[in-house]
Amino acid sequence: MRFTPIREILLGKHENEKVAIRGWVYRKREGKETIFILVRDSTGVIQCTVKAGSSAWAEAERLTIESSLTLEGTVKQDKRAVGGYELSVDAISVVGLAELFPISKDKSEEFLRDVRHLWLRSRRMNLIMRVRGKVQKFTDEFFESQDFVEVSPPMFITSACEGGSTLFGLKYFDQNMYLTQSAQLYLEILIYSLEKVYCVAPSFRAEKSRTIRHLTEYWHIEAEQAFADMEDLMRLEEGLLTHICQRASEQCKEEFAELKADISKLALVKPPFPKITYTEGIEKLKAKGLNVMWGEDLGYEHEKALAEEFGKPFFIYDYPKQIKAFYCKTHRDRPDIAMSTDILVPRIGEISTGGAREDDKEILVARIKEMGLKIEDYDWYLDLRRYGTIPHVGFGMGLERLLTWMLDLENIIDAIPFPRTTRRFYP
Ligand code: ATP
Ligand code: MG
Repeated sequence: MRFTPIREILLGKHENEKVAIRGWVYRKREGKETIFILVRDSTGVIQCTVKAGSSAWAEAERLTIESSLTLEGTVKQDKRAVGGYELSVDAISVVGLAELFPISKDKSEEFLRDVRHLWLRSRRMNLIMRVRGKVQKFTDEFFESQDFVEVSPPMFITSACEGGSTLFGLKYFDQNMYLTQSAQLYLEILIYSLEKVYCVAPSFRAEKSRTIRHLTEYWHIEAEQAFADMEDLMRLEEGLLTHICQRASEQCKEEFAELKADISKLALVKPPFPKITYTEGIEKLKAKGLNVMWGEDLGYEHEKALAEEFGKPFFIYDYPKQIKAFYCKTHRDRPDIAMSTDILVPRIGEISTGGAREDDKEILVARIKEMGLKIEDYDWYLDLRRYGTIPHVGFGMGLERLLTWMLDLENIIDAIPFPRTTRRFYP
């Protein structure tokens, strides 16, 4: 038997035709004359009606929420039904009768997170996961169009990239190892062969703070480019974000509408993005009355305040060296300033950090020592500067941060199917 996707029916392609659908019972309401069953499949939700006296009545009566089933019937236009069409049912066949489903209307956010494995069946999570999948596809499309090679970095690593405080350590047979915080150093290795590389891979951060924008495991879109400078980097990041937003505004209209997410902000994303220096940012914050000193890292409140002013993604660049990682390249004529840039967006703040990487071996060695790191941990990294060093740049963008902004999500937790935070790691 051919089963028709529900979305096809809702698009009006099968009016007055006999069709078969399959899926799960989403909601059910019983009247004396009619039983209304909302049935969902991966593509949509449709109202199905069973009339008293029909041979399907007995099956309809025993259906419970989330039972799996197949139905046959005739498609009717009905303005009152959600979606504008309904199925007038002739036959029902139960595939798996569900026990009493724990999720009902009045459940709290906390409870829904406890039963994440079931909540993922909701229309809301279905739509978010669809957009997530598409954004990953748009990312691949963009990098392919720019001749980047997709590569696969390791998850077990021996030394820190973003500093020790957020490292997860683990036993690797008899040795101590860590879970990766970023693929950057490995992408740097690969550009000496492939020149332009990217990956979308998990990064792990032992973030103790509970915020709306931190996970302990997230997916990181990272790219690295050889023979490139800060202008190339900003153009690359702008290009990626613009491509994703443009494609989403064409291809995710239905999802945004059903999620009641504001799609119009995506159209504001086009190059060139506004750009301010860190120093200008500090001045702006001071003018707004915020308490912040040059040399301090920007916190969430600072980022939010700046982002409000622009109302769309923008760059902040040229940070003080002391708040940046050891690998950040500094301006040759201003050794206190790192060639590093973040993209900030409204409500969320930082969604990406990128920059030029130090390509001078002696300066790099000095930086590693200055930061109190062990030179021997970075021996292979220094080899990259020993043998044919090149100017190069790269960035990392959090996929879930991006989605949280795009879809107006209240918390980053909903941007990933199985969130890991300090408190949540089940199922
Ligand atoms: P923050 O200061 O917001 O904690 P960061 O500067 O430590 O972030 P980076 O090391 O610059 O983060 O990582 C690059 C990108 O990865 C960030 O811009 C962000 O989009 C994403 N990211 C970093 N940490 C997390 C996290 N804990 N959960 C989700 N995404 C993250
Ligand atoms: Mg950062």
